[in-house]
Amino acid sequence: MLAEIIAVGSELTSGHVLNTNSAWLAREVEAYGLEVISHVTVGDSTDQLERSLRLALDRADWVFVTGGLGPTYDDITKEVVAKVCDRPLLLSEEAMAHINDFFKDRSQKATSNNKKQATVPKGADILANPSGLAPGIWLKNQETTLILLPGPPHEMEATFKASLTPRLAHIAQSAIRRHALHFYGIGEAEIDSQISEIFPDNSNPLVAPYAKSGEVELQVTAYGPSVQAAEDLLQPVISALTEKFKDYFYGIDTGHLKYPVSNLLAQGNWSIASAESCTGGLLSKWFTDVPGSSAYFAGGICTYTEKAKQDFLQVQAATLAKHGAVSAQTATEMADGARAAFQTDLAISTTGIAGPGGGSPEKPVGLAYIGLATPTGTFTWQFQANALQTKSRSAVRDAVGRAALFHLFKYLKEKA
Ligand code: AMP
Ligand code: MG
Repeated sequence: MLAEIIAVGSELTSGHVLNTNSAWLAREVEAYGLEVISHVTVGDSTDQLERSLRLALDRADWVFVTGGLGPTYDDITKEVVAKVCDRPLLLSEEAMAHINDFFKDRSQKATSNNKKQATVPKGADILANPSGLAPGIWLKNQETTLILLPGPPHEMEATFKASLTPRLAHIAQSAIRRHALHFYGIGEAEIDSQISEIFPDNSNPLVAPYAKSGEVELQVTAYGPSVQAAEDLLQPVISALTEKFKDYFYGIDTGHLKYPVSNLLAQGNWSIASAESCTGGLLSKWFTDVPGSSAYFAGGICTYTEKAKQDFLQVQAATLAKHGAVSAQTATEMADGARAAFQTDLAISTTGIAGPGGGSPEKPVGLAYIGLATPTGTFTWQFQANALQTKSRSAVRDAVGRAALFHLFKYLKEKA
């Protein structure tokens, strides 16, 4: 079933208030098998809202409207709905009682404006608003169900949860399931071209790639008569994708790489330390972002000068002189130095050129080396940030940090 969301308010069309209601609603209604086909934002204009409403009633089975239910002259939603659906607005005793109760509790009196909030189109049901005065409205208009919700986000959410979810649960004929598959080190274009080969009819389940900094997330979505049926449709697709791109795959619904890496460290009873140069403490931050990380993360040393690399990580002066601070040899000695200093099983190091200056033809901006000291030897990898990333220092740092986490992830996975 198709759904459309209309957000009403000139403060939204002018950009003074960010329309958060539509995104929130879209995420919520998905659970009831509604496919949101359009978001419309329209100002407090009777004509424009009427046109938007007619179009929505024409193309969607469910129309959700938020905003414009207030007591003031610019709140026009109910008037326009009454006109488009050709029904009079009647005073609802139920809504008026709620408003009177509200004022009684505050020993104030309702004004004639508040009466406006208690009117509903004939034949509509009230959706009680636990957080405010204007109730939501449920109106069946021919084949379409029209739902009006208050504009203030906390009122809209409270009304939705308290009054709408029980009714939606009742009518839901289908369910949607969605998972995010996370891949690192493969381009969006490459993954996309292969997806069209594996799934020529990419509809249900639907596989949609989203590129994120250095990563690709594949969102897989399926519709079915029940949650289980939708999930069953997804499973073979998830297996095919994770098998096809297994060298790049790092998790389902895991979010940032730091989470699966931390899980593997905890599960494997590993201890780890970090020795950072170009990432400037980012790895330490990521490790410690995860609650409970003191169980495996001993600490990190951020060494920026050559002297600090020698003093705190025992990098040899000769190594720095011969190979430079940005080299596989230095990355190796940094990781070894941190592993010895912290007495951990593992230590991970980064050294690179974050830019914007300091690059050379041999060692361009974005070049980095990653070291991983382990009980059985120390590995190093060379990394080069791409052209987009090298435009910004923080993007280079982020890219090098993620590359380091991904190499660590692969190591831990292999040992798991
Ligand atoms: P209204 O019901 O249109 O009078 O809106 C009341 C309050 O809710 C105003 O402060 C609006 O800015 C806010 N509001 C209305 N619609 C939205 C929306 N779609 N997203 C976020 N805030 C909104
Ligand atoms: Mg308004």
